[in-house]
Amino acid sequence: MMNALPLYLEPRVEPRLAALLRADGFTHDLADALGSPLNIVLPDQIADNLDRFRATYRRHQLGGQIYFAHKANRSSALLRRLAATDAGVDVASLGELQHALGSGFAPERIMATGPKNPAFLWLAARAGATVNVDSATELDALGDLVRTRSLPRVRTVLRLSAFGTGTAPGSGGVKVLSRASRFGTPVSALDALLKSADRHREAIELIGVGFHLDTTSVAEKALALEGCVSALGALREHGFSPHVVDIGGGFGVSYLAHREQWERYTSALTASVLGQRPPMTWRGYGYGLRNDAGTLRGALGLYPAHRATAGEGYLDELLSGPASATPGRPLSALLLENLFDLYTEPGRALVDQCGLILARVLEVRRDGTGPYLVRLEAKADDIGLEEHGVLVDPVVVARAGTAPAGDGDAVGVHLAGGLCLEADLISRRTVFLPSLPNPGDLLGFVNTAGYCMDFRTTHAQRLPVARAVAAWQDGDSWRWSLDEQYWPTLSQGGQA
Ligand SMILES: *Cc1c(COP(=O)(O)O)cnc(C)c1O
Repeated sequence: MMNALPLYLEPRVEPRLAALLRADGFTHDLADALGSPLNIVLPDQIADNLDRFRATYRRHQLGGQIYFAHKANRSSALLRRLAATDAGVDVASLGELQHALGSGFAPERIMATGPKNPAFLWLAARAGATVNVDSATELDALGDLVRTRSLPRVRTVLRLSAFGTGTAPGSGGVKVLSRASRFGTPVSALDALLKSADRHREAIELIGVGFHLDTTSVAEKALALEGCVSALGALREHGFSPHVVDIGGGFGVSYLAHREQWERYTSALTASVLGQRPPMTWRGYGYGLRNDAGTLRGALGLYPAHRATAGEGYLDELLSGPASATPGRPLSALLLENLFDLYTEPGRALVDQCGLILARVLEVRRDGTGPYLVRLEAKADDIGLEEHGVLVDPVVVARAGTAPAGDGDAVGVHLAGGLCLEADLISRRTVFLPSLPNPGDLLGFVNTAGYCMDFRTTHAQRLPVARAVAAWQDGDSWRWSLDEQYWPTLSQGGQA
């Protein structure tokens, strides 16, 4: 049943991406030539995003490096455009490390994080990248590798975790728990880690400590940041001279244009799970919520798609928060007065507004009075929004000269993919569009460069995976190249 009020979740679209959406002749030509689905990245946007992070560092008078977490997107164009700036890159595999080196990042600008195999560790050490060490075992492996293979001394950051329990500063005593992580060494085991570091003094140069926490909680990160500053004190007591606090990534993106739409949507979803309004999803799927005899159970397993602060704004909020050791002073002062460098590893936030996925509408069908079924030339794993719990509407990019199908009114649709699987749904929820699309139109899934483009794509049924292109503005017109053909010499931004 179509509800009286369409429950839109309109995407937040900044000027460059909005201009691309208006250039419908350009995007249709690209999809005609290169097929559906098609990934488009905007390399000049990542440089703009970097500038915004840098401005936040400047506002707090902090030095240090911003390492783009490469895992958010495989694109060569985004990486090469970033190589033309002064950013660093955080690589989490041998392939990413090779990609970074081949894209123009000098090893001093590269940090190796995440689980590592011997080849990855060897190339990182051989080239002279910084290694972000997960555990005492890895520290020993690195130290032994450097010694036995006669490699240069490796700059090393120790990844810590489980910072215990604290009181959120300025919260009137609210307790914050730093959750355990599969990654990093618990601070309670720091002494043992430093004993190991001591054995490898010749092989490693301990430059600092850090964390990466998969949480949106500023309080939890503030606790971890203060934990790192204390840990640096312990390192100094052991005779090391560290100067880096690495606060990882997780600055987040606000995907939606309107907070009210998000609040209205999630309230309605709750009501529909409780049976107080018609279903809003395919077969009553609850996104983690369920109805237990009239009581709501479970937890909404969704990304907070509208966020009051995200990206460099989130970093600013974290750094501006009060330090518990020195109430009334911001956390950034703690770094500043010790002359510590701040390292950050933004992934999703640095590719905010950096691209979209285009998918062709193949069929529009309706059985009875339910929502329309819109079948796309793409499979669910090509468009990872649902997989990553990000609920945001696609934008209809109509083929020039076609009038909207139906009566031109708002309509609820289910978006289906091209696999012969009942479960191949691009979205399990009813998506509201301002008007019914026609076969041949494109749907633009905007702001998908962070994790949603290529993280889980497959060759199931021998269907093609999306080609990727880079697009940039040249005066009033758009130009493009295949992603792998892009170098910063092509786009104006790169020549500046
Ligand atoms: C994934 C990851 C990041 C990036 O996280 P975002 O949420 O995309 O900012 C940074 N550092 C490490 C170690 C990671 O694993």
